[in-house]
Amino acid sequence: MDINRINDLRDALLYSPDNLSLRKMLASELKNIGSYDEAIVEYKEILKKIPDNQEIMLSMVDCYYKAGRYSTAIVVVENLISMNEDNPEALVLYTRLLIHENNIEKAIQIYQRVLIIDPFFVDDDIDAVLRISNSVSEPEFSDEDPVFIERPSITFSSVGGMEQVKKEIELKIIAPLKHPDLYAAYGKKIGGGILLYGPPGCGKTHLAKATAGQIDSKFISVGINDILDMWMGNSEKNLHQIFETARRNKPCVLFFDEIDALGASRSDMRQSSGKQLINQFLSELDGITSDNEGILVLGATNAPWHLDAAFRRPGRFDRIIFVSPPDVKSREEILKIHLQGKPLEKISYDSLSKACDKFSGADLKAVVDIAIEGKLEEAMKTGVPSPLSTSDILKAIKKHVPSTQEWFVKARNYALYANDSGLYDDILRYLNLKK
Ligand code: ATP
Repeated sequence: MDINRINDLRDALLYSPDNLSLRKMLASELKNIGSYDEAIVEYKEILKKIPDNQEIMLSMVDCYYKAGRYSTAIVVVENLISMNEDNPEALVLYTRLLIHENNIEKAIQIYQRVLIIDPFFVDDDIDAVLRISNSVSEPEFSDEDPVFIERPSITFSSVGGMEQVKKEIELKIIAPLKHPDLYAAYGKKIGGGILLYGPPGCGKTHLAKATAGQIDSKFISVGINDILDMWMGNSEKNLHQIFETARRNKPCVLFFDEIDALGASRSDMRQSSGKQLINQFLSELDGITSDNEGILVLGATNAPWHLDAAFRRPGRFDRIIFVSPPDVKSREEILKIHLQGKPLEKISYDSLSKACDKFSGADLKAVVDIAIEGKLEEAMKTGVPSPLSTSDILKAIKKHVPSTQEWFVKARNYALYANDSGLYDDILRYLNLKK
């Protein structure tokens, strides 16, 4: 950009010093020719008139960054982010600045937020630095690391309701393990997993754990987001490691939570690392190169609609089960489970379970916790502990808002308008939109 234009803009501003568009143009021209300090002066002038203007602040941070004034740039960008946490351009600039300051840990954290806002964001410079800095680190799961292996003590009796799901697990997962010969005699193939989906807190994880307890097997629980370190390049290795650990610890229930995090349709994934991870997952699931006998795979998701259809093929997650909020009878069972062993008066479970329509298992657990806290508070005052009563729990129910309804707002739309081959009929039935 030529100097003449800059001079013209300066002249024009002499006559109209309050014309912010002109001043913005001047600042931008100065920035373009690398006169960052002068551009900053103009941006500051503009900010005097329109303080907190995020676009101007962002341009100014960029100037500070390019002028090598990193600490000032960090102060301004942090201020900018405090005004708007989801400004991707500010977050990217912040990431660059943190890399420059060698604060890699925080840079990864901030870059993660950029990728949440835009999962397909790619920046060669940033990716190069963060990848290199992490590719030398050890995989997150080592052979010796027993931390992820549990031997749960809970069984199906600790899970209230969910009768249909328990039956499916019994038939598809537990029985083949107990009677492999019978299955072989009828030529029934063993294998494949069950995918549980539904609103949060309705017992998907709890049931998976109880499945392991039921057959006295080991239990490995994996949050897909924990291994989905796209820019680290370790994810596939981690995933393989997890399956291998399960294979060495047969029988083992391998539970994958947040499985939708793997879900973006493979063709949509611009980042090849994401695609590779899905392929790796599918081939581990298929047991192509290794034997999966004795490994019982359960998956859970709150967003089944984000799942790649390839996951649903036979031998993979070929049973997909809706885990609804508990019905009135199941709520009674769940309340009994969570009140077990607590000092109680005679409780009217019937009236309690009717009063907590739409509550999830987790909500019911929270209700019991709230009631107990109330009792403790009371006991501290009086010095005398008294047993929980029906009205204590009713009071706690009133204090708690059920957490399942938000999920149904979204689910309803998918069930009504993206219900391929009746996949979400159970949601429609739950919502009384289908018989
Ligand atoms: P998210 O989708 O958020 O992962 P989730 O469906 O996996 O949720 P859980 O983590 O299994 O839900 O449930 C949270 C807690 O709620 C459990 O640890 C358990 O204490 C209680 N809970 C949920 N459902 C039941 C149930 N059917 N019986 C007994 N307790 C339950």
